[in-house]
Amino acid sequence: MKALSILLLMCAAVSNALPVHPENDSQGDNAKLVQDYLNKFYAVEPDPGHLGWKTNAEPITQKLQKMQQFFGLKVTGKADTETLEMMRKPRCGVPDVGLYGVTLPGWKKSNLTYRIVNYTPDMSKKDVDKAVEKAFEVWSTVTPLVFTGIHEGIADIMIAFGTKAHGRCPRYFDGPLGILAHAFPPGNGFGGDVHFDEDEDWTTGSAGFNLFLVAAHEFGHALGLSHSNDQRALMFPNYAYVSLSEFPLSPDDISGIQSIYGAPPNAPDRRPPTPTSPKTCGSQMSFNAITTLRQEVIFLKGRHLWRVYPDNLEVERELISTFWPTLPPGIDAAYENNKDQILFFKGNKFWVISGYHVLLGYPKNINTLGFPKGVKRIDAAVCNRNTGKTDFFIGDKYWRFDENSQSMDKGYPRQTVNDFPGISQKVDAVFQQKGLFYFFHGSKQWEFDPTAKKVTREMKSNSWFNC
Ligand SMILES: [Zn+2]
Ligand SMILES: [Zn+2]
Repeated sequence: MKALSILLLMCAAVSNALPVHPENDSQGDNAKLVQDYLNKFYAVEPDPGHLGWKTNAEPITQKLQKMQQFFGLKVTGKADTETLEMMRKPRCGVPDVGLYGVTLPGWKKSNLTYRIVNYTPDMSKKDVDKAVEKAFEVWSTVTPLVFTGIHEGIADIMIAFGTKAHGRCPRYFDGPLGILAHAFPPGNGFGGDVHFDEDEDWTTGSAGFNLFLVAAHEFGHALGLSHSNDQRALMFPNYAYVSLSEFPLSPDDISGIQSIYGAPPNAPDRRPPTPTSPKTCGSQMSFNAITTLRQEVIFLKGRHLWRVYPDNLEVERELISTFWPTLPPGIDAAYENNKDQILFFKGNKFWVISGYHVLLGYPKNINTLGFPKGVKRIDAAVCNRNTGKTDFFIGDKYWRFDENSQSMDKGYPRQTVNDFPGISQKVDAVFQQKGLFYFFHGSKQWEFDPTAKKVTREMKSNSWFNC
């Protein structure tokens, strides 16, 4: 469908250059775009009672906020230019929300079959076979899974090209651009099946849409993965061409698939990126939140957590959802109180965890801790176990909370730098270890002695990872 796509791309370019539509028309188009987009990708959520999905009846503003949060846009709840731009990007047809914290069961076997039911005329048959085979290899490299192509009968993963309403598929395609492909999670019937929109221009290179890259993404769904909000992940919903000489999986993709199937046997060199991988040990590594948990220190970022045992230099990397399935990704702040509980904060909500269980009745609003209504989120928190006081850092100020009386101390917020000289920037994360505080901002870290009231060392944020 090369000629058609090029023609449409040209039309798009022309209409962008010449705003011939009256403003009202384009506003109407935008409203339709927003509604369609949110209905397609943000309208369902998991229904744990029925092990399936239910329609989410929340208002459009809330759906917009979810979408903006997912893509790391400014969360305005309004269809601003940035949001509309993101909505126009070519992408996968599988929804983004409702999948957080839901671990799909995956296939119960490691030998899976696939069958290419029909071929796109855009590429040679040989090139399609090659792209599909290579896309499966991406996943078999990092798991114990083995994929075998068959030419007749029913395979676990049936691959087909179609347009608009296709076959008996319950989902539709939308013509050129927009949705490129979709896939079904592991299961019988449509389970595991992958469909490509024939109205796209499928290629082996960087023009049009690279079949290998889109197939590798869709196969991730066919194996049980949901979308990642990590832009570098193959499982990010939007299409992005990446150099084919690089292995397309990010550490996020690998830990996701290995949380379902484990690592490949006999291939220690293909293990998930350990904390010494370039990402964790990269010079720009930063964290969202850090807390202690008895002897361990837990570092949080996005969907991941790293468990560090400072005394024996051991580091383990996990998905947050593996430990606490009901916690969302992207925790803002966390701390261990003097009752061996951990409090996790995201936006204006917080959760209390005892051992590995989220206590009933959570999340609660942070107002219940005594924050005024104007406080919408917390950047970092640490409980001083010696005094039983918890400091909450927000911007350049901090609040002090008394764990024993469960109330805010009077006279706060105060300027952080006045009471913690040397800590002059927003605190991303902070924790206490052996009486010292460790403050984090971006890729930097400051060791602070609360008794001497001064910074005693400046380090890289990832100094705890044995890099
Ligand atoms: Zn997808
Ligand atoms: Zn389909």
